[in-house]
Amino acid sequence: MNKVRVRFAPSPTGFLHIGGLRTALYDYLYARHQDGSLVLRIEDTDQNRKVEGAVENLLQSFHKLGIDFDEGPLIGGDFGPYVQSQRLELYHKYAQELIDKRFAYPCFCTSETLDQMRKELQEKKLFPKYDRRCLKLSKEEVQRRIEAGEPHVLRLKMPDERTFVIDDEIRGRVEIDTYQLDDQVIIKSDGFPTYHLAAVVDDHLMEISHVIRGEEWLSSTPKHIFLYECLGWSAPHWVHLPLILNPDRSKLSKRMNDVSVDSYLEKGYLKEALLNFVALLGWHGADDRELYSLQELCREFSLDRVNKAGAVFDLTKLDWMNGQYIRTLPLDYIAEQCRAYFKQAGIDISDNDKYLRVINTARNYITVLPEIVAQSEAYYQTKDLEGKDLEDITDADSRRLFEWYIKELSSLQSCDKDALGELVSRGMTELGIKGKQYFHPLRLALIYRGSGPDIPTLIDILGIEESTSRLKRAMSIGTH
Ligand code: GLU
Repeated sequence: MNKVRVRFAPSPTGFLHIGGLRTALYDYLYARHQDGSLVLRIEDTDQNRKVEGAVENLLQSFHKLGIDFDEGPLIGGDFGPYVQSQRLELYHKYAQELIDKRFAYPCFCTSETLDQMRKELQEKKLFPKYDRRCLKLSKEEVQRRIEAGEPHVLRLKMPDERTFVIDDEIRGRVEIDTYQLDDQVIIKSDGFPTYHLAAVVDDHLMEISHVIRGEEWLSSTPKHIFLYECLGWSAPHWVHLPLILNPDRSKLSKRMNDVSVDSYLEKGYLKEALLNFVALLGWHGADDRELYSLQELCREFSLDRVNKAGAVFDLTKLDWMNGQYIRTLPLDYIAEQCRAYFKQAGIDISDNDKYLRVINTARNYITVLPEIVAQSEAYYQTKDLEGKDLEDITDADSRRLFEWYIKELSSLQSCDKDALGELVSRGMTELGIKGKQYFHPLRLALIYRGSGPDIPTLIDILGIEESTSRLKRAMSIGTH
């Protein structure tokens, strides 16, 4: 087999969305698995939709995720330029070849004429496609109107009666009849090619072996197959990925905040979780395993385990995965990811040993990174208790408990978890207080919350001195 070359070919709309990431990720995984090349190509033939800085943004998002391209704009490569608006001459060259071979013809119809035509066809219950009136114009008239500067487009003359067969790597054999296919515009009146011509020319010239893209492009594939034929080229392998659906099975929302990859990173989802989650939107491994690192995905990925059926975008699953990664990735890495949130909250985390102990515990209680602050602030700041919590630390038993701990902590030989664990059990026996009556007031005194990590962990994080001072503070409240 020739070398695998795949491309991610987004239109530069300004941000990377979940659907785009899924396509790019599958491209990446397939390329890496097959030892092939991954190309980034910017499809900016629709000049109205062009967004300044879109390429930089896109590359930045991929950089944050750790996805690297082998070729592309700002990266370089042997098949450039990689931005379609810089390749216009090439498209015109092949458009001319199509005209010469009589596969393409100019069309002068205005949008009003086309609207009217479609309306009439619809009224007659016919498929609303171009009726080819400009194909009937004489050569001389076409020449005259072009020379007079009349705006026109170039259309591809689709075959009349033909069933196109797409050999899709995921769907198998797909048949589409030409009666549903319009004479596609391939060069617009502004001289820019449409997506169809540009994509085919580029995929051929860039030696793309597999076109991997969303299912929504499947209906365009016959036009592409036909273009390959007209130009005498062999077509690449076709790979159409399943749609991504909301949990109610409607098509995934396009609202930027719901689908922008950056917004998920900003909300505190780890790139490891996001990539893992997106990889499973349509692909599954050999068993029902759900957690994969990017390296493992590169190793395991194959097109034959991509599903045909739509993939449901289930946020609760992403939350679960994020929690799993927060708890299991190396502590230093998670601590690093959390640093900015503490800075934002004005919490001094300069004692790094303490900070690591805090994160090691607090990470067990969160779903997204920003929640780390609420879980950790009690280790850094004292707080006044109110209401029921206040009542719960001022009864006689709680006072006895605090007094005992203050005394015992002052004579504790070592502050390791075993010694602290032993202290906790001895306290129960010596004081005759148990269960909730024992743990609840202690937690309230130490971290101002009735639930949370076990007592040895709390004292270990705070240290003997700070724990003692908090217990004293709790006692003093009761004595007022
Ligand atoms: N430019 C198309 C898009 O925005 C690419 C489709 C394809 O991969 O062929 O999705």
